[in-house]
Amino acid sequence: MALLNIAEPGQTPEPHQRKLAVGIDLGTTNSLVASVRSGTAETIEDEQGQSLLPSVVRYFKDGYVVVGERALQAAAADAGNTIVSIKRLMGRGIEDVSRLAEQLPYQFESRQDNVPAIKTVAGAVTPVQVSAEILKALAERGRQSLGGQLQGAVITVPAYFDEAQRQATKDAATLAGVKVLRLLNEPTAAAVAYGFDQQEEDTTIAVFDLGGGTFDISVLRLQRGVFEVLSTGGDSALGGDDFDHSIAEWILQQANWQGELEPSSHRRLLEAARQVKEQLTESDEATISLEDVVGWKGTLDRVQFYELTDPLINRCIRSCKRAIKDARIRVDEVDNAIMVGGSTRMPRVREKVGELFGKPPLVNLNPDTVVAIGAAFQADVLIGNKPDNEMLLLDVIPLSLGLETMGGLVEKIIHRNTTIPISRAQEFTTYKDGQTALAVHVVQGEREMVEDCRSLARFELRGIPPMTAGAARILVTFQVDADGLLSVSAKETISGIESQIQVKPSYGLTEDSISDMLRASFEHAKEDRDARMLREQQVEAERMLEATEVALIADGDLLLSCDERHILEQAMAKLRCQHDTGDVASIKREIELLAQASEVFAERRMDRSIKKALKGHTLDELDEEE
Ligand code: ADP
Ligand code: MG
Repeated sequence: MALLNIAEPGQTPEPHQRKLAVGIDLGTTNSLVASVRSGTAETIEDEQGQSLLPSVVRYFKDGYVVVGERALQAAAADAGNTIVSIKRLMGRGIEDVSRLAEQLPYQFESRQDNVPAIKTVAGAVTPVQVSAEILKALAERGRQSLGGQLQGAVITVPAYFDEAQRQATKDAATLAGVKVLRLLNEPTAAAVAYGFDQQEEDTTIAVFDLGGGTFDISVLRLQRGVFEVLSTGGDSALGGDDFDHSIAEWILQQANWQGELEPSSHRRLLEAARQVKEQLTESDEATISLEDVVGWKGTLDRVQFYELTDPLINRCIRSCKRAIKDARIRVDEVDNAIMVGGSTRMPRVREKVGELFGKPPLVNLNPDTVVAIGAAFQADVLIGNKPDNEMLLLDVIPLSLGLETMGGLVEKIIHRNTTIPISRAQEFTTYKDGQTALAVHVVQGEREMVEDCRSLARFELRGIPPMTAGAARILVTFQVDADGLLSVSAKETISGIESQIQVKPSYGLTEDSISDMLRASFEHAKEDRDARMLREQQVEAERMLEATEVALIADGDLLLSCDERHILEQAMAKLRCQHDTGDVASIKREIELLAQASEVFAERRMDRSIKKALKGHTLDELDEEE
């Protein structure tokens, strides 16, 4: 039996200080923060005992900002300065959101950088700034409750978020002074909360997330401890709000209400509809009294409610079927469905999801908090509060990442199926004498030739000090972080000049294109290998010819007799001929012959440059330099 560890007051019972890390669910409607304390993850509540923080930010003239419930209450009265659902605008350009923007009560400012900035009394604010306010409020809550500065956070994002949306989320965290340990996909976080990451067997999970304004369905596969998103789907304009609208419309019909409603009455109507909806989760019938708003009171029962809202649920189910198809699995291959989001409390939603999957969905964790809980577990591991072997949620690189080298060949730096995060470096050098710039072309794929791979990015390293070919040392580093973000940097180690770029290798890459690329690489394996060997010899031939050419121009007249020069030029002509038409072996042979033919010439050049270098130096000086 283990002994109880009794600590003196003020002393920690643990052998080492726990590091403070939180999980944050940055939601469209509501956000949460959670942390692991004494082994279990719990959401952190505010002073009123609320764990949900409405994702609403209100701006005042003097730059004063209110976040959460108090801001939400002003959403109707001060709509222009009270920002809701900012998550929908994260990482988007102004054209992307123009359709959405028309429905929003905000004024947008036109800006050079294409970011949709909202005009408020406190000046224009970007989605990143608004999200940063929400994150600040959550971090402050965490800091107060845990009693210290936070050392890091795991923030969840929808699985379908692209690189720009993820980057915007990270930027918001930086602005809020929150160190991001990792961005975690929301469905993956839910699966972690249910403990699937601890499971030995492979499993397939569908995460059904119906929130206030959005519906997301994700199909995940957990294999050997690695979560893979097989497919995502859903509807960014379908959520609990639509259920409220259906009820509100029904009420207006019952009340025989014809004309328009004042904005404040409209809000009260919607609020009443939401209460009715939530009440129907618990009971078969709910009463509505809106005499002072639309002059009507009455009841709504479940049967009628289902009639009104089944079309909405059916839309969700259709999205699920599509996502399962996209994942290339059958519905009975889904081992478990997890329910996430406040709207999955509705019994009818659970029933229909159960019908689809042929088994009841998992609902024992609170659907509001399950994502934040999973993020908290992950944050606890990443900050180092658990032994390393419990490190989880490895992700792998689906396709190799590499560089274009001379002759259109691909040099793979990180091979496929490598687990991330990973960093690999390789040294390259210049090809030409006096070369001062180097083009770096980052490619992805399994094939040997650049033209058969996917081009990810290009950048240049400029300002390399002129040196003889092969003297420069250029260290190229590929780094893939835990979110799958690739950074490539090139550094000339003598001068220290550096250049770099960031890309999301998975951006725009579907499961289909990955399997197509893999298949092609198997089918063309031999052909590719031959092509590569030929290209390598050709490149070597080109390099040789060019170097000899340069040397001849510089010193040919001085150091070679007519005959010697003639022999050398003949060897060059033969190599050139084989380069264009020959096979690997004959190019190789001619390269060797040219090397032999130029041996004497090379020696003479060497002697001369040593003499040149020695001129004017004393032997002492040379010793010192050694
Ligand atoms: P989001 O992920 O968009 O931030 P949430 O997951 O917090 O949203 O879900 C909010 C939605 O859940 C609202 O539409 C709310 O009315 C609905 N909801 C919360 N509790 C219940 C309930 N008991 N019955 C039905 N709907 C509910
Ligand atoms: Mg949510």
